[in-house]
Amino acid sequence: MIIVLEQNPEEKQLDSLKQWLNSMDINVQTIEGIHSTVLGLVGDTSTIDIEFIGALDIVADVKRIQEPYKQANRRFHPLDTIISIGDVKIGGGNFAMIAGPCAVESHEQICMIASSVKSSGAAILRGGAFKPRTSPYAFQGLRADGIELMLEAKKEIGLPIISEIMDISQLPLFDNIDIIQVGARNMHNFELLKALGKINKPVLLKRGFSATIQELLMSAEYIMAGGNEEVILCERGIRTFETTTRNTLDLASIPVLKELTHLPVVIDPSHSTGYAKYVKSMSLAAVAAGADGLIIEVHNDPANAMCDGQQSITPEAFSELSAHVNELLPIINKFY
Ligand code: PEP
Ligand code: MN
Repeated sequence: MIIVLEQNPEEKQLDSLKQWLNSMDINVQTIEGIHSTVLGLVGDTSTIDIEFIGALDIVADVKRIQEPYKQANRRFHPLDTIISIGDVKIGGGNFAMIAGPCAVESHEQICMIASSVKSSGAAILRGGAFKPRTSPYAFQGLRADGIELMLEAKKEIGLPIISEIMDISQLPLFDNIDIIQVGARNMHNFELLKALGKINKPVLLKRGFSATIQELLMSAEYIMAGGNEEVILCERGIRTFETTTRNTLDLASIPVLKELTHLPVVIDPSHSTGYAKYVKSMSLAAVAAGADGLIIEVHNDPANAMCDGQQSITPEAFSELSAHVNELLPIINKFY
């Protein structure tokens, strides 16, 4: 339930309203907007008399919220959330390029790619250490050693880093990782999401390939309900009947998510198409649709990559793409 207050509400009345709600075990969150102040009620509001509250002098409007997600809901939090990682910002008009290999393979590989994408304008380095592969016989990632190599690249090249976690037990290894990625296959791993809710670090949450937008938001809610509000949503393609691309990029999820939530939305054109040749057009389309960032797989030798080479673009292609994105962004920003 949300309560929209009249402008300049009488403080005494407001305090007693909040106290009364607290006495009913309802947590009241005050959101100060430019034009109005909103109280977001978290807890069981089913017994609250909406008409009684609506009749108070200090109340302009009361609404029951249908959506089961509250922390992620834009109605509760009208302004865009901006996630800061050092000097890098994502959301609220701040666009960030995340680039790097699907999997970390060696010190030389990750540092070479990191230095190249950095010089082309990437703000964050990606690199998987724990790889969720369809086959148990496929390369599973360098695991803890891969995390070490990511940390070395961070130190040597000076880019913040993102890597995927697959299990709660791996959490201690992620202490110095700047953003923790939850992959599509773990979007429903609620125990993992709850554990990530208790830490103080941004989480990039990927949409499961058969998850609805509402389910994605509910998974974000799991993290946020624990107190961690720094969630970045990632559309990485969903599974449809189409087989010409690895997944189907749901570009409409961008405006839909922008309406429903204040969280930043990042697009992954690599996993959503599965082919390097489609990455450029889908990246530009994502920028045009209002995305807050892109996460792109880049490999120095895609043909011999240990994971996802087919969809990885070269550092040269990334450099060209990054220039196009930078040209497009100011034009697109005029329309949003
Ligand atoms: C990845 O980013 O390499 C990855 C495994 O992505 P997803 O979870 O979207 O499949
Ligand atoms: Mn990959």
